[in-house]
Amino acid sequence: MINQDVLGQLCEVAASFYVRGYAFGSTGNLSVRVEDKVWITPTGQSLKALTPEQLAWVDLEGNAQNDCKPSKELPVHLAVYRKRPEARAIAHLHAGFATALACLEGLNEREPLPPITPYYVMRVAPLGVLPYFRPGSQELAEAVEKMAIDHHCLLMRNHGTIATGTSLSEAVDRTEELEATARLFFQLRGEGARYLTGGEVEELRQSCGIRSEEHR
Ligand code: ZN
Repeated sequence: MINQDVLGQLCEVAASFYVRGYAFGSTGNLSVRVEDKVWITPTGQSLKALTPEQLAWVDLEGNAQNDCKPSKELPVHLAVYRKRPEARAIAHLHAGFATALACLEGLNEREPLPPITPYYVMRVAPLGVLPYFRPGSQELAEAVEKMAIDHHCLLMRNHGTIATGTSLSEAVDRTEELEATARLFFQLRGEGARYLTGGEVEELRQSCGIRSEEHR
């Protein structure tokens, strides 16, 4: 059954994030959308060893379709699915380097990470920055809803990241690329790094069909 395959993959990805240190304790939540239904990791549980039977199943309005209690960030996931109809998967994590970036005083909110590699430009940018809101709050979901339309990756101040994809693997790729770029950013601080030039970024955008910042 196709749903079981997707749900099995969601559990495998969750475990992989846990094993590699992208998720720890009971932090992080992942969801997939199949037609007009959403499956999301359960509240208060580690991503370490979930099974498809433990995933909460809801419709796009958040109405429960089974007895599993969804992550408290369900409203954030639903807000993204509302604004990005093509989205089929979302990963929200507190991975170390990206979360450290989200805690920097004086963060450049227009360009929180410089164009360090072409992969960041192609897979993550433009990275949107959300102000700090209490986790699980309605205000957080509302802010995500406003920004999701223009960004498939978001940095949540003092909290973590959200990455969306048209497939589970795309959401995973974006999450990993964002964390890898944040790590490079800290490794290169004070090293006099060379970043991609404006012309190099523009060439990448044109070759990949990515809209320019000015045209958003
Ligand atoms: Zn969180």
